[in-house]
Amino acid sequence: MRIQSAIVCGVLVSLGLTGCVSSNYHYGVLRPQRGAVPASPQIETGRPNALLDGVGWVVGIPGKILLWDRRVDNHSISPATEQAISEYLVKNDLGQTKVRLNQYDPLGEWRRLTENHHVGAGWRYTLGTLTTVGYTILPGRVFGGDHYNPFTNTINVYSDHPAIALHEGGHAKDIRSRELPGTYSAAYMLPFVALWHEEKATSDVLSYLSVEDRPEEMREAYRILYPAYGTHVAGQFNNFIPPPFDLAVTAVCVIPGHVAGRIKATQVESRETLADADPFQASPLPELSAQVASPESRISALFPNAPSAFANDLD
Ligand SMILES: [Zn+2]
Repeated sequence: MRIQSAIVCGVLVSLGLTGCVSSNYHYGVLRPQRGAVPASPQIETGRPNALLDGVGWVVGIPGKILLWDRRVDNHSISPATEQAISEYLVKNDLGQTKVRLNQYDPLGEWRRLTENHHVGAGWRYTLGTLTTVGYTILPGRVFGGDHYNPFTNTINVYSDHPAIALHEGGHAKDIRSRELPGTYSAAYMLPFVALWHEEKATSDVLSYLSVEDRPEEMREAYRILYPAYGTHVAGQFNNFIPPPFDLAVTAVCVIPGHVAGRIKATQVESRETLADADPFQASPLPELSAQVASPESRISALFPNAPSAFANDLD
């Protein structure tokens, strides 16, 4: 039975993430954004609290085991992860999107809910209210769970893994590109629709890292985002399966994700290999370089001493 379940999950993971990397990466959102860029800082970090963050780390142990990475829900975000998401948001014109790095700010989130005019008020004051109540009474600072809240337009990060932060950025870009962002976000709750959303976000990250010519970061992304997709596949079945059996389904679904992610990671060619194969393919396209030159220089000025975004490989 478990083997059969693993095969079903493996097929869904493989099908869901087929063709994940596109060479025609589009920088920026596809639609004009309503509302102004807030004056407050785009990225904020919660004040470290040894007790709170220690409890959060322990609560996050199942996630660390499932995704096999101790950076998951570790509640200590490094400059490298901050740099990765900051750079991604600049290059994709997501200036209105807030990033909270291990921060709990319910007042700020309720304010952002009222100010996010890009999403219709009908969705904001129903589903948006529910998600913000959830944020208020079940703080991610303790319970973890990196996510993007489309109703407040906020990315909440508790894991010190750049690819995870980028994945949440991918959700923001996808949703902010939709004509009906509230309806599109609400559809996430329908059975199996979430897999479409998850594929879009993961695909955007892998394509982004590909055109940015960052092979090591791509390998890191494959190793964490594929098993993460497996957890979402499991989540679709777990809507109908009571605890604790849902844990078994999650464990069974995550294994094909780990296998597929590691296989894909080994297939990512290094810069040297690409240069040997075709020196004209080893660098980003000239027009792409020109397109991103300005944001990069701004980011370098912001993080002059930051190490490579994926420097701490703990796998
Ligand atoms: Zn996601």
